Amino acid sequence: MWSNWSGGQRSQPRATVRPLDEAGVRAAVRRSAERGQRIRPVGAGGSFSPLALPDEIALDLSALTGLVRVGGDRVRVRAGTTLSELNTTLAEHGLAVAALTDVELPSVAGAIGTGTHGSYPRSGSLSAQVSGLRMVSGSGAAFEVPADELDAARTGLGALGVVTEVELRVVPEPVLQVGYGRLTLDEALADEHLDGHEWAEFSAFPYAEDALGRWADPAADSEPRARSAMRTLERRLVRSARDITVGGGVVLGRTVPKLVPRINRVATRWGGSGPVIEPVVDFAHRALAVRPVVRWEESEWALPRAALGPAVRELLTAISERGLDVGFPLEVRVGAAETGWLHPAQGRDTGWVAVHAPAGGDPEPLFTLASAVLAAHDGRPHWGKWHPWTVAEVARAYPRLDDFRAVRDRHDPRRVFTNPHLDTVLGP
Ligand SMILES: Cc1cc2nc3c(=O)[nH]c(=O)nc-3n(C[C@H](O)[C@H](O)[C@H](O)COP(=O)(O)OP(=O)(O)OC[C@H]3O[C@@H](n4cnc5c(N)ncnc54)[C@H](O)[C@@H]3O)c2cc1C
Repeated sequence: MWSNWSGGQRSQPRATVRPLDEAGVRAAVRRSAERGQRIRPVGAGGSFSPLALPDEIALDLSALTGLVRVGGDRVRVRAGTTLSELNTTLAEHGLAVAALTDVELPSVAGAIGTGTHGSYPRSGSLSAQVSGLRMVSGSGAAFEVPADELDAARTGLGALGVVTEVELRVVPEPVLQVGYGRLTLDEALADEHLDGHEWAEFSAFPYAEDALGRWADPAADSEPRARSAMRTLERRLVRSARDITVGGGVVLGRTVPKLVPRINRVATRWGGSGPVIEPVVDFAHRALAVRPVVRWEESEWALPRAALGPAVRELLTAISERGLDVGFPLEVRVGAAETGWLHPAQGRDTGWVAVHAPAGGDPEPLFTLASAVLAAHDGRPHWGKWHPWTVAEVARAYPRLDDFRAVRDRHDPRRVFTNPHLDTVLGP
């Protein structure tokens, strides 16, 4: 049985193949192609949508890990390496990918393949850091992706081939100071917050007036104070208390839905009476990492930056007018325009809005409402998260879809790598 992280996507593939190297990937793909079977590359199962769902053969890439080489401003890693392993390994070399995410469980190929992003107003997602890719095509041939196909393959949805190696741009790892505090919704949405830092995001709880902001900037004191045991302990305690408050609130709100508005107001107060600096000064990958304390389902939309404020306000109002018991906050992040043909931030500076629902519950009412509101603001869904789109909406939103399809026809003409969800969003 295959299952994703949230447990919401499950399938019973006929077989699972877990190759140890690229030769194993090629053999598995060739075998499937010869037998007329579909084979779906799967990463860490972090996607909430059925994008990775293997319906015939699952190609588990979790053994294809580790550094191929590192030098100058580039690193090349095997595709199944998790972001956590990548970050730790790079840190040993004093390096970090130029656009870290705060989630560490995905594989490198899964993360770039869906456009996984953090919240950098000036730099793009992990896909934008890709400078080279090695893939196995639908006939089982390995090749280095040519430069003129890189913008198709950097956000490839697992539709063009099996990625075996990824080359990424890296920078000397910065030391970041992370701030965390309560903001009014106006302050949270203002350019001073969202554009005024290296990283900036906020959470807006339905039924609560204020928002919780988080931001990060290069530390003036480049010596990571959190290296000391006391600092590390302090940081963990602050974070755990905050995560437990929010996580506990979600669980309590699920049991007693009518308490949700009150719980959300209490959770917002966690930010204190105004902006405070959380005592976190640490290497970037440790300062930003967030560890989930509960499991959830998620839908996230990429909007033109100018639409962010109106869309967030409209969604918060719509949730409260309908009286939906939404215990998770809206998560609001930003990113620069992307070149990836199918990246949701393609061609425009972006504001991201995510909604969450407890795993195992019924996310439909919230997700349907959010997708109606956010799509009407010219939103495009995150590929790895719940959305109702079919190829008709995708074709309207992505001007380079036909070019992407042409690359797909070249590398997987017999659709060895497809699954029903991919047929729905890209066409057969
Ligand atoms: C707790 C949690 C937090 C998250 N936080 C964020 C966040 O902050 N920002 C964000 O943008 N997303 C976030 N996500 C979503 C998630 O990171 C992405 O959906 C990502 O794709 C997951 O990577 P994965 O390795 O789990 O890939 P999977 O979900 O296993 O696969 C995703 C896609 O990649 C393809 N794929 C995987 N490996 C290969 C390969 N070797 N070759 C070709 N195709 C491949 C699959 O076929 C599929 O199409 C979060 C998810 C979770 C569970």
